[in-house]
Amino acid sequence: MAHAHNHTSQYPELNYGTGAKWIKNLTQNRLSTFVGGHFQDVNLSSVLFTHRADGPDFVDLQVWSAPGLTKPLFKEAMQQTFKPAKKGDSFGPSWTNHWWKVNITIPTYWQQYERVQLEFDPGCEAMIFTTDGLPLQGITGGYGGDRRVEHIIPAEAVKRGTYQVVIESSCNGMFGVPWNGDTIAPPDMNRYFELASADLVVPNQDAWHLMWDFNALREIVDTLPGNTSLQNKALTTANAIMNAFKSGDQENIKQMRGIAEEVFGKGWQDKGADIYKEGPEKAQVVGMSYCHIDTAWLWPYHVTQQKTARSWSTQIDLMERYPEHRFACSQAQQFKWLEQQYPPLFKRVQEKVASGQFHLIGGSWVENDGNMPSGEALVRQFLYGQRYFESRFGKRCETAWLPDSFGLTAAYPQLIRDAGMKYFFTQKLSWNNRNVFPHSTFNWVGIDGSQVLCHMTPVDTYTAQATVGEVNKGVTNHKNLESNDTALLVFGNGDGGGGALPKMLENLRRIRAVTNTHRELPAVSMGSTVEQFFDDIEKDSKEGKTLPVWRGELYLEFHRGTYTSHGSIKKGNRKCEILLRDVERISTLATLFKPESSSYAYPKATIDNSWEKVLLNQFHDVLPGSAIGMVYEDAEKLYSEVRKDCHTLLEEAFGVLLSGSLPMLTDGPIPSQSTNILAVNTTSFPRQDIIKVPVSGSGQNLLSQLVHKSVDGKYGYALMQTQGDEMIAQPMGMFAHCMPVSVYTNGSDHFVLRNASVQLTISKGRISSLYDVKLGRELLPKGSTGGLVIFEDRPNYWDAWDVEIHHLETATPLEFSGVRVIAEGPLRASVQTQVKYGKSTIDVTISLDAITATLKDNSRSLFTFDAQVDWHERHKFLKFELPLDINNTVATYESQFGFVQRPTHKNTSLDAAKFEVCGHKYADLSEYGYGVAFLSESKYGFACEGNVLRISLLRAATAPDAEQDQGKHEFSWAVMPHVGSFLESDVPMAAYIFNSPLHLRIVPKGAGVYQPLASRAPFWLDGSSNVFLETIKRGEDDDFGPNGTTKTVVLRLYEAFGGHGRVELRIAPHLHVINAYTTNLLEDRKSELALVPDAQSHTALKLDFRGFEVKTVKLVLATGRSADSTRPAKRDSWVTIDEERETHM
Ligand SMILES: [Zn+2]
Repeated sequence: MAHAHNHTSQYPELNYGTGAKWIKNLTQNRLSTFVGGHFQDVNLSSVLFTHRADGPDFVDLQVWSAPGLTKPLFKEAMQQTFKPAKKGDSFGPSWTNHWWKVNITIPTYWQQYERVQLEFDPGCEAMIFTTDGLPLQGITGGYGGDRRVEHIIPAEAVKRGTYQVVIESSCNGMFGVPWNGDTIAPPDMNRYFELASADLVVPNQDAWHLMWDFNALREIVDTLPGNTSLQNKALTTANAIMNAFKSGDQENIKQMRGIAEEVFGKGWQDKGADIYKEGPEKAQVVGMSYCHIDTAWLWPYHVTQQKTARSWSTQIDLMERYPEHRFACSQAQQFKWLEQQYPPLFKRVQEKVASGQFHLIGGSWVENDGNMPSGEALVRQFLYGQRYFESRFGKRCETAWLPDSFGLTAAYPQLIRDAGMKYFFTQKLSWNNRNVFPHSTFNWVGIDGSQVLCHMTPVDTYTAQATVGEVNKGVTNHKNLESNDTALLVFGNGDGGGGALPKMLENLRRIRAVTNTHRELPAVSMGSTVEQFFDDIEKDSKEGKTLPVWRGELYLEFHRGTYTSHGSIKKGNRKCEILLRDVERISTLATLFKPESSSYAYPKATIDNSWEKVLLNQFHDVLPGSAIGMVYEDAEKLYSEVRKDCHTLLEEAFGVLLSGSLPMLTDGPIPSQSTNILAVNTTSFPRQDIIKVPVSGSGQNLLSQLVHKSVDGKYGYALMQTQGDEMIAQPMGMFAHCMPVSVYTNGSDHFVLRNASVQLTISKGRISSLYDVKLGRELLPKGSTGGLVIFEDRPNYWDAWDVEIHHLETATPLEFSGVRVIAEGPLRASVQTQVKYGKSTIDVTISLDAITATLKDNSRSLFTFDAQVDWHERHKFLKFELPLDINNTVATYESQFGFVQRPTHKNTSLDAAKFEVCGHKYADLSEYGYGVAFLSESKYGFACEGNVLRISLLRAATAPDAEQDQGKHEFSWAVMPHVGSFLESDVPMAAYIFNSPLHLRIVPKGAGVYQPLASRAPFWLDGSSNVFLETIKRGEDDDFGPNGTTKTVVLRLYEAFGGHGRVELRIAPHLHVINAYTTNLLEDRKSELALVPDAQSHTALKLDFRGFEVKTVKLVLATGRSADSTRPAKRDSWVTIDEERETHM
């Protein structure tokens, strides 16, 4: 059937023209000339401002420079004497702070304009305050993409004609003050910044909006394929705008904005934030503003405190003009600083949290490193984080959030769930330099089988600029759209802070306007929460059933040097974690055992304070060793405060438990009148130890308790033993199970340390033999040797962060020289060795004791290596290695509350990428029947390349800290042969003990008949040896006052080998347990535990574990007299507590 055409127009018969065909790429390239650049005097940039005025008639400036590197707060600064200043003045040096009083006079005729702004560009970072001290917004000077120098003057001030603000400028950029503009170069400590602008301006609002229109069109052109109609439409529209632009003609700008509506839709701008209510019902990309502020990195902690106030005040200011703007914010520590230093701003944050625009995420104290903190430290990141958020904002976080951490332990899913969260956002694995991580949205399953719903944004950044390209990437780079097709766009300047800029929010509105009528781009939504984003995924994926599963750690194939960089910080972290564990344990016991007359109270405030310092230093650029030198000065100071406070707390608690005893230091003088040595075992494992006691001066009194002296006569050695539930060990003589040690030497270059268990030979400076005496088995392959080794360490760029695979091709074995015997047995045999390399000296004492690593049957003795290093190398990597006659495809490394196994081979690119890995207290290579482990007390880097097991000892990067690791170091490791494979071994127990030295004490003469209050632990485990008791502390919500009415003890236990276990937690009879239950990590009641009277003569609590399960148990104790230790134990109060089925939260 013929169609009836309505020919109202005539198609001309003749055509002598050329038609409209362009050379498309030339037109596309043309778009780059419309804003800025070579033509900025005549293109759109030339009309962005209608008026500009400066000088004292308009902007009067007075300045006060804070002395040195001080950082006074607002009130203090306002009391100083200010002096006149002007545009063009220079301020410095780096890190100094300068306060400005700014008096503005606004011409009356400017009242006609929509907006008047102060443009203040000090070239560095700054913050604008009201004259009474409320931070209004941050300033980012300079001409980077994060430039933010404008401050909108309130309409009433424009009308009044006068306006005053106070500005604090700080002499650092967003990324500190790096030399020569190389981001990771150490800071230039003498940088000066010029006040480039202090102008009063009237922005041409239409021109700014046209610029944003044009940029959005250009991004569409650059993002979409050339065969899409939207790409072509955006190009013709942008081209038409350029053609219509008349330089110097303000009036035609409105007309050009009309041209842009061809793409954005008629009247789109008047809809404001309502633009998000039109178009598709569900957007594929969810926009969430965020501002990543590294708690320290290329700047120290105190600069971060300013960055936080600047960035957050700016975001709150933006919320006033962009109602769709939602800001997600993590890290309780930063909130706490804000609360302390900027109370008026903190109040505004509280209001915005309550109104739902400011979102709390992460639930942790800081965005910590995801590899090295201990299991208990990760618990505390959540405990202190969530409790802080709850106390200040009345709510906890629902989504764990670690976008920038350098790899994530597989312990996390369980800990996140148990900290009251089920969602997890991360991103860093997009930096992998070998394999692309295969999923974007997935169930992340940890070592124990727990899962969290994880989104790893396909946009591949947490500092998106909200461009068309990034919104599009949310879909085009999504790895598993088939299972879920949504993505989170996390936008806003970050790392150094800043957050969203107005242009980002403007761009997103335009993108949404486009997608309300076009389908070539995914729609973006705003105004939602991160939780809503995850809730939708959970629902759409049938509670995760249709999502892929990733089991095990999220290993970052990058930044592998961070397990070793800055040895002092690694050591500070490990030692303080263990010190705090001991303080909590001993302090708790002191509150349980103290006599009625004692005024001892649990030192909760000091413990919290110490934990907060340790948690702070676990930030993901501090603990990894990737920050500038200034950060390590601060961090080491915090660790020394923690050490000092913890030792004071230990003394106070020992004063209750072991009244009259004094601490004994192996490197200090022995108190006079000493009679007896005591040692406190803070682990839950029975153990034997050989201790070293100085015997000069008062030490002479202790000789009878020592078995033998060192060769130089300065030290003596004693054997200490604790058994069962004993906490206190006393010296004992050699007994039947001891295996006396001896050293054989040829007097020059051949030394053998030996007992009836194991034997180690150093020949010609190398370890030539490691021998199991009982089995007659040599553990080193024939012809190979072990020992220290140096690698060339020049990564491709990220110096402190990266060690690259090619370092393995550059090994130089080092030889122990000047070996001499310093202890000859029978309790301890030691040889001292020295390695000279380059400008460095490495002294290592190698020792063997007459005891086994643990009290497990068949346990072998271990060889301890105590190193003192004076390190002056650059770009060298020191390791210790042993080639082993052991064959396996995997090696085992301790992680938080368990372990991780990683390949020893390079079969696939995934395997090959794990050439340097993180481990905690042990690394092990085993085969059926036998294995060898390395134990570490402060190192975290390991590798197992084939049959060669390595522990990484020291690096020497020069960026961002030019002096990284230069100077003196002391650390230890041990080589532990063991019968049976890893799972049959006592390696985890031995590593635990190796990290927990006994607390040595002295009882002075005249202390009377010494009667410790608590020689036995009040809590101990019977049953499966694979369940460890990690933590004993008082409950967070206890009343610690003298008449406290709430008295609880919290115990954390975990299964350490990856299989089921059942234990009975035995409780000392004098503790009157009223009630017991399991809790989550936040100590919320989880499942009730029934109190069942036990016919046996023990108080016991039965607990079942699945592999790697972490369990928190809370015991509620009777208070007052009934709980006092003086009350005689009554058999009928002994109970068994059975665990009921857990009700999962
Ligand atoms: Zn970061």
